[in-house]
Amino acid sequence: MSTDECLFCRIVAGRVPARFAHQDDLVVAFHDITPRAPTHILVLPRQHIASAADLTDLDGPLLGRLFAVTAELARDADVADRGYRLAINVGPDGGQTVDHLHVHLMGGRAFGWPPG
Ligand code: 5GP
Ligand code: ZN
Repeated sequence: MSTDECLFCRIVAGRVPARFAHQDDLVVAFHDITPRAPTHILVLPRQHIASAADLTDLDGPLLGRLFAVTAELARDADVADRGYRLAINVGPDGGQTVDHLHVHLMGGRAFGWPPG
């Protein structure tokens, strides 16, 4: 898939509107359009990586930034003290619907385990 066709690449490029929570040179975060929890933010690399299944050792610094930003956003959203759920869906059985790697940061309620 080209970055022209990828919805999240289009959001990163500012061609589709979103409510941004964070932007830096590597990582972007915006609020999910269909929130499944009081806080539901998607955190993703600027660069198009289709899924977590495509990650390699070389992505270490990017992933460090991604998870550090996620932790900061959780603190900013006041969900860090009680805890929150991070989810990365991979492929059809994993429930992935947008093929651009993203972490779901969800908080503000308790989550069950295992997820459905
Ligand atoms: P996935 O199902 O791939 O793990 O997660 C994709 C997420 O993207 C879903 O939670 C869905 O609600 C969200 N989403 C889909 N389209 C849009 C959009 O146009 N804008 C925003 N902000 N979120 C979207
Ligand atoms: Zn993309």
